[in-house]
Amino acid sequence: MTQSSSVHSLAGHNALPDLRTWLQRLAATDRLAVARDGVSLTDELAAISKKLELERAVLFPSPGGHAMPVVSNIFTDRSWVADSLGISTDKLLPRFQQAVRHRLPWVEVDEAPAQEVVHRDVDLLKQLPIPKHNEHDSGPYITAALLIARNPKTGVQNVSIHRCQVSGPDRIGVLLLPRHTLHYFKMAEQAGEGLDIALVIGVHPACILASQAIAAVDEDEMEIAGALLGRPIEMVKCKTNQVRVPAHAEIVIEGRILPNVREPEGPFGEFPQYYGPRADREVIHVAAITHRKDAIFHTIVGGGMEHLVLGEIPREATLLEHLQRSFASVRDVRLTRGGVCRYHLVVKVEKTSNGEPKNIIMGAFGGHYDVKQVVVVDMDVNIDDPVEIEWAIATRFQADRDLIVVSGAQGSKLDPSSDGGISAKMGIDATKPVEAGPMVFKRIHVNGLEQVDLPRVLQDDPKAAFARIVTA
Ligand code: MN
Repeated sequence: MTQSSSVHSLAGHNALPDLRTWLQRLAATDRLAVARDGVSLTDELAAISKKLELERAVLFPSPGGHAMPVVSNIFTDRSWVADSLGISTDKLLPRFQQAVRHRLPWVEVDEAPAQEVVHRDVDLLKQLPIPKHNEHDSGPYITAALLIARNPKTGVQNVSIHRCQVSGPDRIGVLLLPRHTLHYFKMAEQAGEGLDIALVIGVHPACILASQAIAAVDEDEMEIAGALLGRPIEMVKCKTNQVRVPAHAEIVIEGRILPNVREPEGPFGEFPQYYGPRADREVIHVAAITHRKDAIFHTIVGGGMEHLVLGEIPREATLLEHLQRSFASVRDVRLTRGGVCRYHLVVKVEKTSNGEPKNIIMGAFGGHYDVKQVVVVDMDVNIDDPVEIEWAIATRFQADRDLIVVSGAQGSKLDPSSDGGISAKMGIDATKPVEAGPMVFKRIHVNGLEQVDLPRVLQDDPKAAFARIVTA
């Protein structure tokens, strides 16, 4: 899809796509609930969000008596993400692949709604409605903030999301996994410096999704967001440092990751549905908070559907790209819900040679260390349906012939069954043999099923009809 056609596909969204344009669309299509006043920021806001996570976004007008509203569940299904980009769900992964290949540089602007209000005297819990989510979380967490940092040598920006614990009025404990933000921070720390950053809250889903692309170091994820939306993101310089942030964001927290400081952070409810443990982690000192006059705070419940979907789509696109580089038969992939949208991968193939599914399985293990189980299925299996995937395993797989087990590989540290991140891998080839006769694996089918018109063939009043036909 070209960039001009993606602009065209957003026709009707003439305003720059931001959180508000997306919330307006959700409200207009009956996908937004609004809570009554008086909901507590501690547990209750997360409980209501979780209750509605498969149905609706929720706007809390004044949670905990706070003047600033909170929104949650802004995308809890892949079809919502596709809708936010103005495309159909089957175009989602190809569109993401395309955006990663052809990034669109952002443009800098001088004035920004995100800076209408500036607090230089910072008190996080007073100025922002920050919820506490899962039962044993250590306290309130900022969970939906884009952390934007600059390469200290080149100025190239990186965008990622981290769990951010409120540790004091102007202090945030942050978990930095071994990726790009940590790489930039180590560069700064080795030079005896801190790393200037910004935490950006309240952006369009495209910006959140783009932040999760498995891009190379020094590939600015905000350029992927621009490509996803088909127009450059407008960025503005922070008030207290050189970091550039989306001008149409709701809220920006400006600060610096402190050198040679580590303080306790955690526990925090994570995507595997377990708690990430408490440990000494990096610390952000906050210099300023800026926001819109009527800012909206976005929160993501840890381990909820929004958290799962947020990791799912960018990883699927990356794994699909990785597999298609080596295997022309790969058509689609899905990270399943039961596999916490990270660990269990299903690959759909148009199989042309026996044996290749096992090569695909080994390729997928190499695609991302989180992938722990791979199931390969044929084109006639609906990979969005766990029952269909199990049916393929039940009827096309033999464990002594079609199973691969690899011991002692790298896995996810957040998988509590792993040995500190050392994990086994399992591959299941659930495809039918190429040479199978035409009837052996032919799915049963009733002729005319798809054409049945129920109002035409059924009587209007079944109770009365039944009483006429069957007498007591
Ligand atoms: Mn990056």
